[in-house]
Amino acid sequence: QLSKRLETVASFVPKKSRVADIGSDHAYLPIYLVNQGVIDFAVAGEVVKGPFENAKNQIIESGLTEKVIARMASGLNAIEQEDEIDVITICGMGGMLIANILEDGFQEGKLSGKERLILQPNVVEVEVRMWLKNHAYKIVAEEILEENEKIYEIIVAEKSSEEVELSIEEAIFGVELPKKNSAVFVKKWRQEQKHIDRIIENLQKAKKPNLSKITELEGMKKRIEEVLK
Ligand code: SAM
Repeated sequence: QLSKRLETVASFVPKKSRVADIGSDHAYLPIYLVNQGVIDFAVAGEVVKGPFENAKNQIIESGLTEKVIARMASGLNAIEQEDEIDVITICGMGGMLIANILEDGFQEGKLSGKERLILQPNVVEVEVRMWLKNHAYKIVAEEILEENEKIYEIIVAEKSSEEVELSIEEAIFGVELPKKNSAVFVKKWRQEQKHIDRIIENLQKAKKPNLSKITELEGMKKRIEEVLK
């Protein structure tokens, strides 16, 4: 049984695409996609030996060694040109790490620009959206969901032939998510407001409160209030 989080990621993978799942761990996502008849080929990339072994073993157990290839490599180095990858999934990591993996891959010429990127950062989604904007990837879909008391965002992007516009608000809150304004979205940002309140309270307790930090946090609270209005 795949997690709701990865099932939602899977729902953005077009039929018959060739997928590279970077940081695949048990290779659950590519195995699921093949078993569901969505795809016939995937690479499961892993940089750490333990998870790489997990991926290999799961692929063997599932009888999918012809269709899912585990490769031990950092980031997009798991991708070979002959793979003709057209979807890259990077899930379950921090936004900064995802942005770094994309940047390194970009620098090393691993992105043809034809790939759909399906990204699921656990935190700091803003870094992912900024990377996408700066490299002319347009956000084509977004989702937010809650599972086991954790809230996850999924960002789907494709290369654009034009410059991509993205406001600071959109980078922080998303392009689609504020429009949908789902209960989970509201919950996420209400929680964030409370979190900021606690930080401000603590900062104010200091002998010499860091006023610029407090002002910055107040500004963020205001932004949240605006978006939730
Ligand atoms: N993608 C799976 C998911 O969403 O359930 C597994 C997420 S797991 C928390 C993150 C995985 O990313 C770990 O197995 C870790 O070894 C791997 N990882 C971290 N940095 C990586 C990199 N630069 N290249 C490839 N894999 C990486």
